[in-house]
Amino acid sequence: MIVDHVRLQVKAGDGGNGCVSFHREKYVSHGGPDGGDGGRGGNVILTIDRGANTLLAYQYKHKFAAENGGDGMTDKFHGANGADVILPVPPGTVVKDAASGQVICDMSGDEDFVLCRGGRGGWGNRHFATPTRQVPRFAKGGTKGEEKEVILELKMLADVGLVGMPSVGKSSILAKISAARPKIADYHFTTLSPNLGVVRAGDGKGFVCADIPGLIEGASDGAGLGYDFLRHVERCRLLLHVVDVASVEGRDPIEDMIMINAELEKFSMDLAGRPQIVVANKADLAIEEQIEELKEYVESRGMELITVSAVSGEGLDRMVWRVNEVLKTLPPILTFESTYTPPANVIDRTDHSVTITREGKTWIVEGEWLWRLCGSVNFEDRESLMYFQRILKNSGVIDEMVKAGVRDGDSVSIYDFEFDFVL
Ligand code: GDP
Ligand code: MG
Repeated sequence: MIVDHVRLQVKAGDGGNGCVSFHREKYVSHGGPDGGDGGRGGNVILTIDRGANTLLAYQYKHKFAAENGGDGMTDKFHGANGADVILPVPPGTVVKDAASGQVICDMSGDEDFVLCRGGRGGWGNRHFATPTRQVPRFAKGGTKGEEKEVILELKMLADVGLVGMPSVGKSSILAKISAARPKIADYHFTTLSPNLGVVRAGDGKGFVCADIPGLIEGASDGAGLGYDFLRHVERCRLLLHVVDVASVEGRDPIEDMIMINAELEKFSMDLAGRPQIVVANKADLAIEEQIEELKEYVESRGMELITVSAVSGEGLDRMVWRVNEVLKTLPPILTFESTYTPPANVIDRTDHSVTITREGKTWIVEGEWLWRLCGSVNFEDRESLMYFQRILKNSGVIDEMVKAGVRDGDSVSIYDFEFDFVL
């Protein structure tokens, strides 16, 4: 069983808080503000691990959080930056937002991807000194690190995908045309997975071929066709549809083809429409009429039939040559564009929306940013309070309150701060 689909909860570190402190030294009275800034929170970063071919590393551990930034300290000391969390994934991993299913990124190149950004550290009070405010008794809180719930799906990077019923000879064909050749040993794919093979074709570069484990295995005993595995051939430029032309297992190759194509359609019309070459395997056991009948059917559907035997090796060179020719005319391996739009509160860091409700005689004003703001305000200090009031005014919260019906003299509660409303 290969692990190719996992759900993870990831969180970047929060930024550290800025510090409130004043310089103290012998013989120096009234030292200036010297509170240091908070450190930034660690990021959650995805990186490609060329040696991996499954998501096994995430089978049991699903939660990852980067370190928070340290708080700022006295004497201008900056809080430590939080350490990043690095998550290695196999090439071809597609990352989706769990809630919306939108693609966040496709790890099919070489680049790392910052999945969650750490919060910024808050400024220490030394930043808030102005000619008229020489004793700032407040500092800023750090911002929160991003948080996401994501799905990782492995969609292998291959040019050609082998599809077909069990035991028609897909793995035998792959073994014959790829890993057996010593020249290909230096490709990372060969050591990477038993199901991906690099096939050398006449003109050097060759192509990567994928065999999907488990596809439709158990179908006959009603275990379902397991078309989930088709995600591994989803990127393929060309499908090799393998059938058993000798009907060794007593199955009809034409019926099998129809069934497999129906599965492809069920998975995605896009995949069903991908170019196909039909490979009639086990020709060593077949009789002429079986091959002719199949050929007629395949050609009547506008497709091409290639007859091979994975056992005797007959036809395989021609098949590889032909596949290579056809690939030259096809677009590159499919990659997935990001379709992700983060929730509004993540895009807009200055989102000042609040909810205003009335409880008895008191108005309750709440909001994520407001909560953070309260954490950075010293309500004992007049200047801090004025700063707080200015922000309420400039961000439009006061207007919102008036609109909601708050009147002169009403009591208002904003988290642990209560006051009488004065316009
Ligand atoms: P897969 O399930 O499609 O991957 O099929 P396998 O590659 O595992 O092959 C299933 C069986 O068919 C094995 O016993 C193979 O030895 C046999 N087989 C595969 N190709 C040929 C062939 O061309 N001729 C003969 N006679 N047997 C074959
Ligand atoms: Mg197989």
